[in-house]
Amino acid sequence: MNFSRHFRVERLAPGVHAALAVPGGFALCNSGIVDLGGETVVFDSMLTPTAGALLARTAERLTGRRPAWVVNSHWHGDHIWGNSAFVSSHIVSSRTVRANIEARSLSQFRNDRREMRRELPRLTGPRSPYAKRDRAELRGWFQGVVSMPPSHRIVPPGVTFEDELVLTGSRRSIELRTYGGGHSPSDVFAYLPDERVVFAGDLALRGLHPSVGDGRPRAWVAILRRMEKLPISTVVPGHGSPGPKSTLATTRTYLQDLQRIVREWMRTRKEARTLSRIPIPAPYRRWGFSIMFPGNVLRTYRLARAEALGRARHGNGRAP
Ligand SMILES: [Zn+2]
Repeated sequence: MNFSRHFRVERLAPGVHAALAVPGGFALCNSGIVDLGGETVVFDSMLTPTAGALLARTAERLTGRRPAWVVNSHWHGDHIWGNSAFVSSHIVSSRTVRANIEARSLSQFRNDRREMRRELPRLTGPRSPYAKRDRAELRGWFQGVVSMPPSHRIVPPGVTFEDELVLTGSRRSIELRTYGGGHSPSDVFAYLPDERVVFAGDLALRGLHPSVGDGRPRAWVAILRRMEKLPISTVVPGHGSPGPKSTLATTRTYLQDLQRIVREWMRTRKEARTLSRIPIPAPYRRWGFSIMFPGNVLRTYRLARAEALGRARHGNGRAP
């Protein structure tokens, strides 16, 4: 129902909706629209102010009022660059997410804009490095960023919390929580205890390779294990379609497989260049965003090597 170029809306429960990114549009990430009763909350503002403005209008149409709150799950541009479209809302996230937005978002925007303008013509054609199945999504991503003016305003959260913030209305509560950083230095998810719905941000993806480039797989696994203890019926991932609770375990297994593959590679002391040639394991070969895999392997290797060096320096991990 409710199709636009940028996202489609799916009702999860009365007053609880997911806005799901349409490949090729300028949303890129999934968002949530939650009617608390008396106030409306939006989870993640999408890639561009164009998609963000449509999201704000959609929230107003579905709930009868403008969103009072916009949650930022983490600092990555595809979840927060729509913030500037929410002029009358409080933007809220963890203190660490805010610090990362302030320190890194503008340079990410400038770099992405330059690189994506350059990459757009390379998307198609016989020598394209991009998998066919990813091209529609990547086109929307690149075009969306290129469509934003260089003067685009980065809007950081004006309200921050440490571990948890609960917003309660007459109809329901939404629990904004962070268990630390896994996919990014700090990842916030939203939990609706009555409906058992989780808006996971990029802590969970469905049918797509998650991105480890800015994250720490070991901490990420621990975060997902903790989330898996919550009573959950529906997971709205940062990208991909909503799924059951097992969506969390699937992402966790991917991260554990990644760590295992890298450990095995390190044990056999292969030449450095073979690291980038490790094939995608069979269960993930049909997943989208396959372009993430080599970077995920490299990041996991670098973290594992730093850890091993640290252990050697500190006497096999024993406290002095
Ligand atoms: Zn992300």
